[in-house]
Amino acid sequence: MGAQIIDGKAIAADLRGQVADTVHRLGRDRGLTPGLAVVLAGTNPASQSYVSSKIKMTAGSGMRTFDHRLPASLTEADLLSLIARLNSDPAVHGILVQLPLPRQIDPQKVIAAIDPGKDVDGFHPINAGRLAVGLPSLTPCTPLGCVRLVKTAYPSIAGAEAIVIGRSHIVGRPLALLLLAENATVTLAHSKTRELPALCRRADLVFAAVGKPEMVRRDWIKPGAIVIDVGINRVDAANGKSRIVGDVAFAEVSEVAGAITPVPAGVGPMTIACLLANTVRAACMQAGLPAPTF
Ligand code: NAP
Repeated sequence: MGAQIIDGKAIAADLRGQVADTVHRLGRDRGLTPGLAVVLAGTNPASQSYVSSKIKMTAGSGMRTFDHRLPASLTEADLLSLIARLNSDPAVHGILVQLPLPRQIDPQKVIAAIDPGKDVDGFHPINAGRLAVGLPSLTPCTPLGCVRLVKTAYPSIAGAEAIVIGRSHIVGRPLALLLLAENATVTLAHSKTRELPALCRRADLVFAAVGKPEMVRRDWIKPGAIVIDVGINRVDAANGKSRIVGDVAFAEVSEVAGAITPVPAGVGPMTIACLLANTVRAACMQAGLPAPTF
């Protein structure tokens, strides 16, 4: 029997609809229009495409956008002074600096310079620390999207065995903390983990955030497990072009999993929808209003 396909596109569209409704109400009842500033330095094609989608979707949900495209030769001092201006601009409620940054700029310095209350990517050490100790925080968008997706197929995570493969600060680590907060029993695996297939086979919920094409195979998966594939990998296609695959061997894993996200159209659209949700949360917090729960 084939796995249920978790339709990230449709679930993301639903969340964007809820965000747009909230934005409309905030404007009507409070005169508040959330605003997102997006900063892109350089001409990396993937980054340009991500930024364009983020701006389009933000504007599409009724929010204001502030688009800062900067040359790859930008200095760290110039970027820090832009961040300082955005921090003090009351029309800007969220600041997103698209990574990676040009080599001459230290990303940690830039992230630390963002006002934590406007840090809609959730990468600032204050937000990372608040998440780690279980306090309300602006939380990274991709992990938020993963939890939302898994709940559509497995609503009650409490007590489930979850494995997160990959421990990056933007995906794996915060995802493990979110799952722990939902009372899952969490294994956080990485490149030094031993017996990874055997650990995976124990899990009710498998999250792959590695960046290795189709690494997770059919015999790693317990029958009926839910599989969330974060990976985005470009590989050569038969026709001399390229195509995008995830970290999970989708066709063979679909034969055994209970539910699975496709790549593309799984986690990717959720990341942007959660960014919009975070921007509205940030705007509400700055206005002293209760943050919407979505
Ligand atoms: P990253 O920073 O490169 O981290 C990769 C993680 O995978 C590291 O923790 C690494 O372990 C671990 N790893 C590497 N090889 C492994 C192996 N053989 N077995 C087990 N673990 C291994 O990557 P990332 O930024 O988290 O991104 C991961 C993937 O998700 C990428 O394909 C990226 O493009 C994609 N992504 C997608 C979205 C989206 O919106 N869909 C968003 C962000 C990222 P060590 O820590 O030991 O090195």
